[in-house]
Amino acid sequence: MAGPISGEPPAPRRGRLGVLGWPVAHSRSPAMHRAAFAELGLSGWSYQLLPVPPELFDETVRALPAAGFVGANVTLPHKQAALELSDDASPAALAIGAANTLSFAADGRIYAENTDGPALIASLPIALPGARAVVLGAGGTARSAVWALRAAGADVAVWNRTPARARELAEQLGARAIDRVESGDLLCNCTSVGLGTRWTSHEEVLQSLAINTDLLLSYACVVDFVYGERASSLLDIARERGVMTVDGATILGEQGALSFELWTGLEAPRAVMAHAAMEAA
Ligand code: NAP
Repeated sequence: MAGPISGEPPAPRRGRLGVLGWPVAHSRSPAMHRAAFAELGLSGWSYQLLPVPPELFDETVRALPAAGFVGANVTLPHKQAALELSDDASPAALAIGAANTLSFAADGRIYAENTDGPALIASLPIALPGARAVVLGAGGTARSAVWALRAAGADVAVWNRTPARARELAEQLGARAIDRVESGDLLCNCTSVGLGTRWTSHEEVLQSLAINTDLLLSYACVVDFVYGERASSLLDIARERGVMTVDGATILGEQGALSFELWTGLEAPRAVMAHAAMEAA
């Protein structure tokens, strides 16, 4: 996990927080953070949805500190823009090229952090130095996973439906691009396959990810970043056969906990936040 960002201001004792996105109504972050405030009796804190279209992102973010905001989470499509407008950023955010957490200092400076990759590492039940990890996907989530897994000492192979994107990502972050999914210790689905109601069967999900059941069951641990109302096909199959699994809601809860700790300076009530993330469907 990346260390604290340079020049990080002391944590304030109260403040407004929110999640910037477009659209953002579906976000589970308000439920998670409000559950944490309630658990710790933090009456001076609030967390709200901040729906902002891309063309208004910069001016809205710059106006937030004056309105009492001490930080904000950032979701699609603003993660790159969030890094670009920041005054300082963590090694994780810089390497990944995107930020999901902004903190506002009293002097108006904006600090960017990315807690998606560190949240993956914190959620994994296996040792990573020397482990063979296979990441599926080449979007923003795959970038954070590949960076974090490499930083934790894993050997990382990247497969993507569009191979050129896997090659580019692998080259930038010190991983290997692969044309066929190979076996390993850890499989990490960072694609959006399985999201929503369009996926009718386990077979369709496996086929879209170019894997079969035998290959899936060869891993010690399977992770699916996708979360939603439906259970993950990948995790269902793996769990039934005794493979360790980590679901998207757990990672979501952990990235929220890391953001919470950055803003408040307090230890996050992880179980409460993860439960709220799961319940907020
Ligand atoms: P993204 O940048 O849009 O990337 C999407 C990826 O999915 C690309 O690699 C794309 O491949 C692949 N893909 C899309 N449709 C596919 C299909 N039908 N078959 C095979 N591959 C397909 O998205 P992202 O921001 O990385 O997010 C990916 C997923 O992670 C989303 O479901 C998001 O909700 C989830 N997520 C979860 C958390 C959490 O905390 N649990 C955090 C962040 C994101 P191509 O390059 O070929 O298009």
